[in-house]
Amino acid sequence: METMVIAIYKSKAPVQIGYSILYKDGWDQQVFKQLCEPERPKLYCTCSPLGRVPMHVKRRPKGIGRYFIAIDPNAAIQHSLNCPLYHLKEDSDLPRLPPYYETGVDRETKNGNEFIHVNIRVFASQTNTNETDIKSNAPSINQLRQIESSEFRFGRTKLEVAFGGLFREWYILGLGFAQRTMSPKPSREQLLRGMWKVLINKQITVEDGPFDKIAIVPFSKVKWRLEGQPRVIVGYVISPPVEFDNSTVKVRVRGIDTEIDVLVRNRHLPNYRLDGRLCALRVVCQNQEYWSINHVQGLLIYPDGAVWLDSSYEWQAYEFLLKQRGLAIVKPLMPSPEWYDFKPDFVLTNTKPQTVIEVWGMPDVFLHYHEQKKRKKKVYQYAQSLGKLQLIEWNVQDPMGFEIFSKQIKDMKKS
Ligand SMILES: [Zn+2]
Repeated sequence: METMVIAIYKSKAPVQIGYSILYKDGWDQQVFKQLCEPERPKLYCTCSPLGRVPMHVKRRPKGIGRYFIAIDPNAAIQHSLNCPLYHLKEDSDLPRLPPYYETGVDRETKNGNEFIHVNIRVFASQTNTNETDIKSNAPSINQLRQIESSEFRFGRTKLEVAFGGLFREWYILGLGFAQRTMSPKPSREQLLRGMWKVLINKQITVEDGPFDKIAIVPFSKVKWRLEGQPRVIVGYVISPPVEFDNSTVKVRVRGIDTEIDVLVRNRHLPNYRLDGRLCALRVVCQNQEYWSINHVQGLLIYPDGAVWLDSSYEWQAYEFLLKQRGLAIVKPLMPSPEWYDFKPDFVLTNTKPQTVIEVWGMPDVFLHYHEQKKRKKKVYQYAQSLGKLQLIEWNVQDPMGFEIFSKQIKDMKKS
């Protein structure tokens, strides 16, 4: 549903205006002129579940962008993540933002199953490279920051999802399948079966075509040795990598009931340990051996319930929460209006009001992360001041952080 602006005139019924009316390659100057003259209405954006957000149309003496939207800096924070005004700074110049957002993933539900198209070319430049390495497919640091921390971006071109984003979507579908058909708290192996099922159900397509044509979950039922064909392999890396030669390590990947070895070039290794993680490896089979052709992605999957945790700190927090009695712990997979368009690290749904838990991990040197964190925190604090949630945080940079966090959780239970 489109976000609206409500215009309230003196002694007239409120008027609702969609952002698609207000914005066409720029703020529509004719519409804005009417909003300014002769009668200036009060304007509110309806994007936020917390209430109307005041906004103002201002006028410059002259110029192409004569009429523009100015936002009270205190109100700016209240716009929701998918609001066209989300990025708009106070009294900023004419913003070059289209009035919609994209996630890079199209979703459709058919017969109770979700089908997705993920806008990524998994093996984009395979044909233009002599090496098996596919460098240009690796997203830039900026792309990763943008995609991984916000999942949303404004843009005229369709947002391309990073490989990690595809992996995450696949996990979400696979987990959903396992929860519906195997167990409400699936094991790690059941998760893998779920991920295999969504493949063969053809629930995922990518720009390269049907994802089941290029992705593999090692399984005795499946023939997978395809010489020269690039493939995505998903499975658990079950032991520490073993040195193969000075630029390559060998990792053993366990699928549903089969194990395979992959030779991973050192430059494709992430900066965390792979063993124990659910990994997605982009490989090509040469002389009956699998070689990595791009960076390996690894997810931490908690054994009980196959919960994906973003860091070892989250793991620690989750284990602590599990040990407490009577908490209904939710690990959100997507941003939701219920949580003001953010994706909290954890939510406790049986407290009143519900409790949002954030594990602040990264040092603030990452500007984009810092901005997101500041914003998220402000929105939560605002919602908390309205009694809509309570916020409990663990700042891992603080040596006392865990003690403060755990005490708050314990105290909360008593109240
Ligand atoms: Zn808004």
